[in-house]
Amino acid sequence: MKAIRVHQFGSPDVMRLEECPEPTPNEGQVVVRAHAVGVNPVETYIRSGAFPVKPQLPYTPGSDAAGTVEAVGQGVARIHVGDRVFISGAHSGAYAEQILCGAEEIHPLPDNVDFKQGAAINIPYATAYRALHQRGHALPSEILLVHGASGAVGTACVQLGVAFGMTTIGTAGTDRGAQLVRDQGASHVLNHHEQGYLDRLMDLTNGHGADVILEMLSDVNLANDLTVLGPGGRVIVVGCRGTIEINPREMMMREADIRGVQLPKATPEEKRSIYAALGAGLCGGVLRPIVGREMALAEAPRSHEAVLAPGAYGKIVLLP
Ligand code: NAP
Repeated sequence: MKAIRVHQFGSPDVMRLEECPEPTPNEGQVVVRAHAVGVNPVETYIRSGAFPVKPQLPYTPGSDAAGTVEAVGQGVARIHVGDRVFISGAHSGAYAEQILCGAEEIHPLPDNVDFKQGAAINIPYATAYRALHQRGHALPSEILLVHGASGAVGTACVQLGVAFGMTTIGTAGTDRGAQLVRDQGASHVLNHHEQGYLDRLMDLTNGHGADVILEMLSDVNLANDLTVLGPGGRVIVVGCRGTIEINPREMMMREADIRGVQLPKATPEEKRSIYAALGAGLCGGVLRPIVGREMALAEAPRSHEAVLAPGAYGKIVLLP
């Protein structure tokens, strides 16, 4: 089978499509034939060698995919060959035609969700759910700002916030992205490149501000976020690519919180909650993963450039 392999950390071109042995499942393991694979920004940080946690070289990137079960190891009861599934992790890396997973990383893919959408579920939707509910303790009727709503995590956050009965405001950097955010049910969309756009948030909320901000680029926005939080508001740091200076007085005055999100830190119980909630939302059609771009598996290097480029539009998936 073919898989992307990385033999040294560096630029996107260190990713090469190679012939690899087909994986076989040991006890408690499952092999999935990938029909679509999700590309996430974290995979670019790991590939570059700049991420604190480094895999042993050589490795195959990726943790997100959807496909059909190809083989099942001993002791796996509830998963059968041929099942439609999405994955939430991969022992052997997801940028491949076949993926070796632990049985606990396999989730049923509802019939109303296609494989490309299935590849867009794991990191984006699990992170969005953890940020909004497990870290943000959001409540219906609260005001939610999704700061960076046009990308994979952002569109998931908007869908979750709207479904939960929150007044949901999103930001995007392009007209096309703004329309996408509107289409997900956001009440208002702001352009995060426009001068004074956060003043508009205060107008839209009659001076109250946001109760919860899900922040995709905290090194740019955190200081300003604190000035548009309502009393007892929470900024949830989802994305961060550098440092920033803040004025803690803004937190003090509002009794506000800044909370981090790190999806791998979810406990097994929290993971069970996350995937149960996502399964229900997907089956009911409340959650509708948006695939903005499809590329061949061999184009993985270009996909890593695309996922960091401005003008996000939902998810980028690779097709093996
Ligand atoms: P993505 O699809 O590339 O989306 C990036 C988003 O950031 C887009 O909506 C983009 O909007 C927006 N953005 C760009 N400039 C911005 C600005 N100045 N202010 C606010 N938003 C801005 O990436 P993703 O997969 O959604 O991931 C988003 C971030 O979360 C990444 O940094 C990723 O590494 C991180 N993340 C963290 C976790 C965790 O566990 N903590 C998990 C998943 C992802 P335009 O392109 O329209 O300008």
